[in-house]
Amino acid sequence: MRVATFSIAGERRVGLVDLESRTVAPFDLPVESAASGVLALIDRNGAGLPPTLSPVPLDRVELEAPVPRPRRNIFCVGKNYHEHAHEFARSGFDSSAGAGAVPKHPIIFSKVPETVVPTGAAVLMDASVSTAIDYEAELAVIIGKEGRGIAPENAFEHVWGYTIVNDVTARDLQGRYSQWLIGKSQDTFCPMGPWAVTRDEFDLESAAIRCFVNDDLRQDSRISLLIFDIPTIIATLSQGITLKPGDIIATGTPVGVGIGFDPPKYLKAGDVVRVEIDGIGALENRFVERAQ
Ligand code: MG
Repeated sequence: MRVATFSIAGERRVGLVDLESRTVAPFDLPVESAASGVLALIDRNGAGLPPTLSPVPLDRVELEAPVPRPRRNIFCVGKNYHEHAHEFARSGFDSSAGAGAVPKHPIIFSKVPETVVPTGAAVLMDASVSTAIDYEAELAVIIGKEGRGIAPENAFEHVWGYTIVNDVTARDLQGRYSQWLIGKSQDTFCPMGPWAVTRDEFDLESAAIRCFVNDDLRQDSRISLLIFDIPTIIATLSQGITLKPGDIIATGTPVGVGIGFDPPKYLKAGDVVRVEIDGIGALENRFVERAQ
């Protein structure tokens, strides 16, 4: 199923998306429960789905991020596609470069929960803080079942579904600080959406991932080319960190980010970045100068 978090008449709802009819059917959930987005379904813990109400046209609702405010930081994997690992190592901004271009173990960093914004929202650029803002198209995993010490062969049992994120990055800040959190956690730097799809409906083996900047195709790869696959990422993280329902893991970006070009193609105010993943949809955000 394809599940959207959205608002209509000022209230947040969670609903089933039907792409053929371009509608979304809200689940009959208490308003206070729907406020957490798709977490409202994940938290039912196997209790089954609530009934749905009358569908409404998608163009009458305002989409929100599937998980509008994650309960803790978003886990992210760095340098997880071979060609991207090389382009980033060459860029001069890689404060992890001592470890070699292609990491032996997953590089894990995080973004604070408040970075999340939905499709259609503005991503704010503050030129007094960063002049090297870049896009990163990524598949994100949404955890559905708690676990610690999860074996790779059991990892998918803990996956509820998937969505798209743009792991927006201030490269100058990422290079300045050996921990990447500041460069990755600027306000609005985690567009997420347009909705989530459940694990059973998404084919990791065949899905392509693309990123356009103003219709210029910059990234064009396949999820199956991840260096560390999803079971490895989940096994690595859960070795000592208990993964919780609703945790989000951004799995890394393929080659073609702005820093990989010579000269780099950083984002400018007015640019529109669209990330597409087959079987999920498209996440589109305009980058704008932040009003001081
Ligand atoms: Mg990334």
